[in-house]
Amino acid sequence: MSVKDGPQTGHARPQSSTDALVRIEKQVRDIPDFPKPGILFKDITPILSDAEAFQTTLQLLEERLRPLSPTRLVGIESRGFLFAAPLADRLRLGVVPVRKPGKLPYRVLREEYTLEYGSGVLEMHEDAVAGQRVVIIDDLLATGGTAAAAARLCQRLGADVVGHLFVIELAFLSGRRLLGDPPVEALLVYR
Ligand code: AMP
Repeated sequence: MSVKDGPQTGHARPQSSTDALVRIEKQVRDIPDFPKPGILFKDITPILSDAEAFQTTLQLLEERLRPLSPTRLVGIESRGFLFAAPLADRLRLGVVPVRKPGKLPYRVLREEYTLEYGSGVLEMHEDAVAGQRVVIIDDLLATGGTAAAAARLCQRLGADVVGHLFVIELAFLSGRRLLGDPPVEALLVYR
C-alpha cells in the first residue's frame, strides 16, 4: 500500500486552516511494514508530543465536531482516547471508551470487527450511551471495520450516532462506505 498523492488538506477552507493542516501533516510519521509487511503505518505520536501540533489538531477537530452537536463522545482504544478525552473537555461533554475484550469492569456489549491488519472484538459498557447523540472518535479510518463496529455497539445501546471524527482517513481503502449515513469528518485525507 502506498499514499500516492499525499493528503488532501482541505480546499475551500481558510488559508490559515490549510496552513495548519499542512503543519500537522508534516508531523505524521510513515512507518513501512508495521505491524505487518505491506502496511504503511501512519504514526501520530509526533503530533501528540509536539504541544503546538497537538493544540492545532485539537482545535481543527473541535471545529469539525461542534456542528454535529453531540451530547457525548466515544473514543476507540487506544489512540482514539488521546483525542476524544481532550475534545470532551473542550466541549464540556462526557467521554466513553470502546475497548478491546476483557478491559472494561462492568457489564458489556461486544461486537466483532475486521480491520486492515487483522480482526478482533470491541466492547462497551452497556449503560454508557443510551439516549445520547454520540460522535465516534479515532486517530485513523482505514477499512472502516473498527469504527463501524463501534457504531453498531452505540446503536445497540440506544444511542444516535451523529458523526465520526478522525485525524486521518486512508480514503483509498473506502472505509467510509461501511459507516453509512452519519457525517464522516477527517482532517488529513490520503487518496
Ligand atoms: P480499520 O478498522 O481498518 O478502519 O482500522 C482502523 C483502526 O486500526 C484504527 O484504530 C487505527 O488506529 C488502526 N489502523 C489501521 N490501519 C492503520 C494504519 N495504516 N496506520 C495507523 N493505524 C492504523
